[in-house]
Amino acid sequence: MTVKTQNLPFSIALVSIIALLALNFGSPESTVPILGFHGILDHQNNKSISGLVPEEMHYSKQELEKLLESLILNDYWFLSTQDLYDFFLTKSQAIPSGYRRKKPIMLTFDDGYKSVHTKLLPILLKLEKKYSTKVQIVLFLNPSRLVQKASDSKTHLSCQELREGLQTGFYDIQSHGLNHRDLTKLARREIITELLQARTILRRCTQDLDPQQKVASHFAYPYGAYNKQVEIYVSRYYLSGYLYNDETLNYTCKNNFYQIPRLIVNYNKSSQQIIKTAEAVPAISSQACQ
Ligand SMILES: [Zn+2]
Repeated sequence: MTVKTQNLPFSIALVSIIALLALNFGSPESTVPILGFHGILDHQNNKSISGLVPEEMHYSKQELEKLLESLILNDYWFLSTQDLYDFFLTKSQAIPSGYRRKKPIMLTFDDGYKSVHTKLLPILLKLEKKYSTKVQIVLFLNPSRLVQKASDSKTHLSCQELREGLQTGFYDIQSHGLNHRDLTKLARREIITELLQARTILRRCTQDLDPQQKVASHFAYPYGAYNKQVEIYVSRYYLSGYLYNDETLNYTCKNNFYQIPRLIVNYNKSSQQIIKTAEAVPAISSQACQ
């Protein structure tokens, strides 16, 4: 497939983009690339995994493994949403000494695809064994689809699987709205239901494993769609809000925690396209500081 060959150098490209972005901004310490993935596709078993979104939304398992390995070898720090909030946004906590020389990055996976658990988690376990590094990933979930047992859904994550990933310390479980609805098109009451119900269901699933209620404390806008009203409601129930706008976070001047940019990662994007996008990104620092 042409798509496959086009995609091969993608993981290498991503690492170079991250480095490039750091160079562009002059100060590597002030940027955090937040990569926005969906599900995982296996080249060796390249069948359709879901009719819900086109396959190009998903990412190659083989390429992702290469990417993760490069990131580990290049001394990246895989942030949780709470890490980003505490150490970089609010700066309410000092970065622990062991992490000060590391490069922060965040890997996010939207919409709760089962392939994250069946295809990615085994890789995370393998890498942990090999490098003694835990790659923590952020899951932004729509719990209206949340079934109890793993066998209850072929396409989406179950509560049982979320609990396994949380217990082993690989999953940071966060909210993406109850039904994945565009919040900018809803009445106020519906917005509240989407925000509040999502939080309640996710926390009910993980309650006993999450005494500090870190689960469902942060939010990713479905479709990245937001406006002032949506932002105000999200700020009532969540500590921060994530976009899907193909930009990199510069936290130095970031004072709005409800507009955290994420880079779009999909199957079809060639390395050249992504590098071009990265080069075209304006200096967010100067914008945010105005
Ligand atoms: Zn989504």
